Amino acid sequence: MSQIVVSPRDLLNASRPKTQRGTYYIQTWGCQMNEEDSEQMGLYLETIGFEKADNITQAHVILLNTCSVRRKPEDKAFSLLGEIEPLRWAKPDVIIGVCGCMAQARADEIRRRAPHVDFVLGTGDIGQLPALVEEVAQKRRFQKRIELPERKGNVVEDVPQRHLGRTPKLKAFVPIQYGCDKFCTFCIVPTTRGRERSRPTLDILDEVATLTTGGTKEVTLLGQTVNSYGKNLLEGRVPFSSLLWQLNDLPGLERIRYTSPYPRDFRADLIDTIRDCPKVMEHVHLPMQSGDDAMLKEMHRLYTVESYLEIVQKLRKQIPAIGLTTDIIVGFPGETEEQFANTLSIMEKVRFDGAFMFAYSIRPGTPAGDRIDQVPEKVKKERLARLIALQNTITCEINEAYVGRTLEVLIEGPSPKNPKILQGYSREFKMVHFEGPIERIGRVAEVRVTGSQLWGLRGELA
Ligand code: SF4
Repeated sequence: MSQIVVSPRDLLNASRPKTQRGTYYIQTWGCQMNEEDSEQMGLYLETIGFEKADNITQAHVILLNTCSVRRKPEDKAFSLLGEIEPLRWAKPDVIIGVCGCMAQARADEIRRRAPHVDFVLGTGDIGQLPALVEEVAQKRRFQKRIELPERKGNVVEDVPQRHLGRTPKLKAFVPIQYGCDKFCTFCIVPTTRGRERSRPTLDILDEVATLTTGGTKEVTLLGQTVNSYGKNLLEGRVPFSSLLWQLNDLPGLERIRYTSPYPRDFRADLIDTIRDCPKVMEHVHLPMQSGDDAMLKEMHRLYTVESYLEIVQKLRKQIPAIGLTTDIIVGFPGETEEQFANTLSIMEKVRFDGAFMFAYSIRPGTPAGDRIDQVPEKVKKERLARLIALQNTITCEINEAYVGRTLEVLIEGPSPKNPKILQGYSREFKMVHFEGPIERIGRVAEVRVTGSQLWGLRGELA
C-alpha cells in the first residue's frame, strides 16, 4: 500500500481539478474538533476532484467521522453503517470510510460488524485520506480483490498537518492543541487522540491572520485542555495567556473564545487576561464534572471542589459580567445519592449560566468502564432529570436578570426559524434574537435586552 501523504504545500498548490470525479458526504458526530477534522477531510477530497453532495444517497465517497466520548454516537454510527450498506452494493463506485475516535478505538469491531466499509482511518491520519480513496478506487477499477485498507492504532504524537485553504466564515474553530495528558478515568480521548501536544504559536497566528483576511471576525481556539497550551514547544514554553495577547494584536480579528479549559491549569494570569484583553470574550466554559471531592478523585480530575470554587470566585470578582458554563456527569460508577446531592448543592451555589449535563456512559477500555459498581440506568436517568430541572430554573433566572441591559452582539445571520429575525451571541455567550436590517450581518451591534427564555434572550437594536 502506498504511503503518499498530501502535504500542506500540495494542498495550497493544488488547483481545482478540471473534471469532477464525483461527490462526497461526511457525517460528523461529536465535538468541535471533529467538526474541524471533517472540514479538513472535505478539503482534502476536493483536492482530488470530489465535490460536496447534497445528501448521503447521492455521494460517491461517504465518510462517517465518529465520536467515542459516549455510547450514543457510537450506536448511531453503527446504525448508519447498516442503513448505507445497500448503497455500497447497489453502486459499485461508492466508497465508504470510517474516521475519527471510534475508528481509532474500535477498528476491529468495525471490520467485523460492517464488512462493507472500505477503510478505517484513525484520528492522526487525515492527511492520508486522498491516497486511501485513490487506492480503493483503483482496486475497484481493476477488479482486484480489495484488502481492507486500514490506518488505525497509529496515534500520531506529532502535531497533525493543517493547511490554510479554509472556507471563509464569520466564525471559525482553530485547533491549537491535540490529545490529552490528564487521563480522566471515564474518558477515551487520551487513547484515541494521543498525548498532549501544542501547535507552534506562529502557525496559529498565521492561520488566524489568513482567516481574518477572508472575513473571519471570531475564532474559537480548540484543545482538550486548551489552557495548558504551550508546553513542549520547540520555541520554548508559551503560556496560553501569551497566545491570547498575541492574537489580540491581530488586525481584523474582533473576538476570541476558547474551549475547554481545565480547572487545575486555570491560573491567575489567564484571569487577568480575560479581564484586560479586549478581544477575549467574557465567557468561560469550565468543566466541573462533579460537585463531590471523592467523585472527582475517582474520576481522576486533578482538582477539588474548593479549588474549583476559588477559580469561580476570582473570575466573578475580577470580571463581574462573566458568563460561566460547565459540564457535569451524573451516575459515575459508585456515585451515591449523597454524592449526587453534593453536585446539586454546588450547582445551586455557583449558579452557572448553563451546563452540558450527561448520564455517565460506559466507555470500553477506560478504568471506569471496567468497574463493577455501575449505577443502574434508571437511577442515572432520574438524577439527570433532577439536575437538568435545577439548572433550567437557574438559567431562566439568570437570563431574566439580563432584561434591560445592553449587550454587544456579533450578528451572525437570520434565525433559522424566522428569517426576519437576526441572531448572534453576546460577549458572555448569550444567544440574542432581535429585528434588524440584514446589511448588519457580520457586524457587532449593541442590543437592548427586552425578554428572556431558557434558550437565550430577545432584544432590540440599541
Ligand atoms: S481532560 Fe479528561 S475528559 Fe478532558 S479530554 Fe482529557 S482525559 Fe478526557
